[in-house]
Amino acid sequence: MEHFVYGPVPSRRLGRSLGVDLVPYKVCSYDCIYCQLGRTKEKTIERKPYITVARILEQVYKKLKEGIRADYITVAGSGEPTLNSEIGSLIRNIKNYTDIPVALLTNSSLLYDSRVRESIMEADVVLPSLDAHDQEGFETINRPYPEINFKTMVQGLITFCNEYPGEIWLEVFILDGINSTETDAMQFKHWIERVNPQKIHINTAVRPAAEAYARQVSPEKMARFCKVLGEKAEVITPYKDLEKHKTSVDVEENLLNLLARRPCTLDDISSGLGVHKNEILKYIEPLIESHTIDIVKKGSAVYYQPKNLQ
Ligand code: SF4
Repeated sequence: MEHFVYGPVPSRRLGRSLGVDLVPYKVCSYDCIYCQLGRTKEKTIERKPYITVARILEQVYKKLKEGIRADYITVAGSGEPTLNSEIGSLIRNIKNYTDIPVALLTNSSLLYDSRVRESIMEADVVLPSLDAHDQEGFETINRPYPEINFKTMVQGLITFCNEYPGEIWLEVFILDGINSTETDAMQFKHWIERVNPQKIHINTAVRPAAEAYARQVSPEKMARFCKVLGEKAEVITPYKDLEKHKTSVDVEENLLNLLARRPCTLDDISSGLGVHKNEILKYIEPLIESHTIDIVKKGSAVYYQPKNLQ
């Protein structure tokens, strides 16, 4: 069975988050160089019911009936969720069923379309991305579908944020040597003042990225960048509290057992354990930080293996 719902997983931005996937892996309007899910398989701006709402809701309701606790139900997943033309119906149905607030992660690419903006109005919080401050950076970092340009994208984001009554938590993803200087921060500030979000989250590539040259920014540079953006900006620190949030299946133990047998890619682990890729990533991150497992690159593939493997 295909899994469209995963978690709850610990999220650095949303606490305990029940993830909901609206598009198959990896259908997206961008092909970001820092994407932790690898390169985009289908780059598109075509909106359609990639996965029908009925199929997704069946899995959401099942999880909620199991009595799971979550701080947010997060519409996100393995690509850009606003590409699913039934997103409005999905959000409405979830909100009719539960009091758990609905959060939406979006790359902002389709917010120029009024139908997209209308369809996500009922989300409780929207977390859009802005990773570039000009066309050149947009092409370098997000590698968008050719019909989307920076001005159209950023105007759509500003229009949405002016219309939307809920909270906006903007994410700015910065990469070493690409968009992370204080001059970059000043240029971002120009646009962010027009977006006027409640929070600004500064993130960097703490996990293996689609491209090796998408490198993590040092904590010192992150802090300097953040300072330029003012009080609303905060660096998102890695989530340290995984132990409290284990799911009923001991994913971490099964993951380590699997890696003890052979080095695996994210795909291998996901199919081997029957657990969604995004959920696996939440377990991998602290294991890398604690030096329990290592990352090994072979060509464009990223493998994980126990630290002491010779
Ligand atoms: S928008 Fe998100 S899913 Fe799409 S390529 Fe960028 S990081 Fe990956």
